[in-house]
Parts: sequence; structure tokens; C-alpha cells
Amino acid sequence: MEHDAKHKPWLLIPGPVSICDAVHRAMLEDHSAGEPEMIAALRAARGYLAELANAVGWGTAIPFPGSATYANEAVIRTFVPQGGRLLVHTNGAYGDWLVAMCRRMEMPHEVLRTAPARPPSHDEFCRALTVNSDITHVMMVHVETSSGLINPIEMVAELCRSHRKALLVDAVASFGALPIDMRKLNIEALVLSSNKCVEGPPGLAWVICDRAALDRSAGNASSLSFDLWDQHETVDRTGCFRFTPPTHAIRGAYAALQVHQEEGGSAARLRRYRTNWLRLVGDMRRLGFESLLADAHAAPIVATFHEPHDEHYDFRKMYDGMAANGFIIVPGRLAVPDTFRIGCIGALPEQAMSLAVRTIRDVLNDMGVRRFGPLERRQAETAEQLM
Ligand SMILES: *Cc1c(COP(=O)(O)O)cnc(C)c1O
Repeated sequence: MEHDAKHKPWLLIPGPVSICDAVHRAMLEDHSAGEPEMIAALRAARGYLAELANAVGWGTAIPFPGSATYANEAVIRTFVPQGGRLLVHTNGAYGDWLVAMCRRMEMPHEVLRTAPARPPSHDEFCRALTVNSDITHVMMVHVETSSGLINPIEMVAELCRSHRKALLVDAVASFGALPIDMRKLNIEALVLSSNKCVEGPPGLAWVICDRAALDRSAGNASSLSFDLWDQHETVDRTGCFRFTPPTHAIRGAYAALQVHQEEGGSAARLRRYRTNWLRLVGDMRRLGFESLLADAHAAPIVATFHEPHDEHYDFRKMYDGMAANGFIIVPGRLAVPDTFRIGCIGALPEQAMSLAVRTIRDVLNDMGVRRFGPLERRQAETAEQLM
């Protein structure tokens, strides 16, 4: 891992993540959009992403400027046609953003809200699909970053197949590490970021989608900027964006994907993140902290811990103390109150995780915190109360 002390602070957050030297170097030069080198980089990046999703020959990868939220909005606008109706699942802050988008754009939709600290059940999804039989599309978040919970896209894909619904997935926190076979799951469109598990710079998102569904989506979007069909048509034909592309972010993303491939692809990245996560969670538990999620449902992307039950504890002071020592932890956007989160993705070595935990211990000791564990039974109570 070529990420050293000169890049401090370490970003222990699920985006933007710490990026490696090769990716930084790729962004030092200025390039115009139409240069053969830029066009080739974009084509190679699209091809590699389609490979990772098992979408070669069936789907297509579309670069989309902006953060991943913009691409989520473009997916809803482009793939749900006039007369369509969306079922949005949420069990955290990122699912809630999808709901907020639907409200703002007055997209006909239903909301399936489930408890934040466990995956939704087969019954919950089945009931929602049966009750709302006019649903045409289902959208859900794969890894809910506000808790770290892995949502069961395989189960939902199976239900969508039997109920004949199209499935849209926000895989922003998982793509590039957790395996996702789009073709097998028949996912119509999936959103990812160049940042997060791809470990590129922020500012460029991607949509991978079923090519046939994209072809059918022409004219759906009631927005010019958010029309993925239109963006794809231009990118595919010319190798350029419709408008000024984020050239540095494209070069950074391409370099990041090369690093991803050299590292051994998504499986190798998942192994590295799991090593980081195990170190983080293991060391935190030894101090007395308890994590929110059962390990079986926790993605090695970000870990959520209950706050210490101690009168001297103050999140802001802990955050500032960590920052003063070169560690940025997640400042907000929680699925469950009285918890805090630490990310383990990005170009971070395992030592950064153990160093971070030792720093938390020292910062809390300086604050006078003696007890790092939560109130007894807090875990079970919170999960139920928030239903
Ligand atoms: C980070 C994230 C987003 C939003 O991405 P931005 O790049 O911040 O717009 C959406 N969904 C999930 C699951 C995320 O982790």
C-alpha cells in the first residue's frame, strides 16, 4: 500500500476516501476532453466496470458527472417511464435520500421502511410487492452506509424476477469490493462512485445498466442534465461528454481502476477491507466498545459503534481530538442515534486502523472517559424503538 505519512490526515470515512499516489499523479496534467488519450481512458474504464459487474455484452457503463447522488437521481429519471411507479426501500440515511428525490421530482412511489439494524426480511419485501401491485420498479441501497448494513439484493432480485419488477440498485458503498453479478441478478441499473471502494477522486459517478432497458428509456427523462440515455448516446458515439467533463476526475478514476485491477480486482479489495475491519472492530471491542450490527450483516466498509455510556463523553471533543492527531472519522448521517462510525475503505493499511483505535483510547482517556461500553441492552432496544 503506497500511502504514507505525507498524506495525513487519514480519512476514516466512507467518502471521500484516501487515495494512493498513482491516482494523485494521474491528475497532475491538464487535458482536453477530445484527446485520443482521454477517449481511450474513458473507453477502458467503461469496459472494466462492465466486466466487474458481469455486464459485458449485455450492459453498458455510463460515466456521469457529479457525486453519486446525482447518478441515483438520473437513474430514477431515466429508467422509470411515464405511468411507472417505484417502490423505494429504506433502512437508513441513503435510502432516505432516494425517497427525498422521488418526493422532489413528484415520482409516483411507495416507501418500504424497515428497521435500521437488521436486513429487511423476505416477508416484508413480498408483502410490499403484493400490496402495491402497480409497482413497476424497485430501488434499494446495497450497503447502507449510515450503519454499514448489507441489504440482501440477491433475495430482492429473486422477488423482482418472480413479481416481474425492474430492480435499480444504489451500490455506491459496495461496488468494487462486494461481488455483484448484474446479469445473474437481472439488475436493470446500478449506481457507483469513482470514489469509495474504487478509490478514485470524488466528482464522477457511473451507472451500469441493461443495454436493452436503456434503449427503451429514450425520452423518459423530463430533464436534460439527468438524462442517462442522452449522456450514453453521446459518450458511446463520440467518446466525449455532452458538456465539459471532469477531466482530472476521469483520469484519476481510470488510474484507480488500473490499481484496482493490479491489486486483484474486487475480491482482493474486499479481503483488504475485511482485514482493516477486523482489526478495527477487534481492537475497539477489546477497549469495551460494542458494535451496532451483528457481524453477519456488517459490511467491511464502515463500522458503527455505540457511544460510551460515560458522563465525560462528548462526540465533538472526540472528533476534534482524532482530527488533531490526523484521523478524520465520520461526523454525522447516522441510521441510529447515540452511535458513531469509522470507515475502513480507501488506501488505508491495517496499521492505520490500530493506530486509530489507540488514538481513540488516548483521546477518550484525556477527556476523562473511563467506561467505553454502552448502556446494557442498548443494542436490542434501539433496534426495536426505531421501527
Ligand atoms: C456515499 C453514498 C451515496 C452518495 O454518494 P455521494 O457521492 O455523496 O453523492 C449514496 N449511496 C450510498 C450507499 C453511499 O454510500
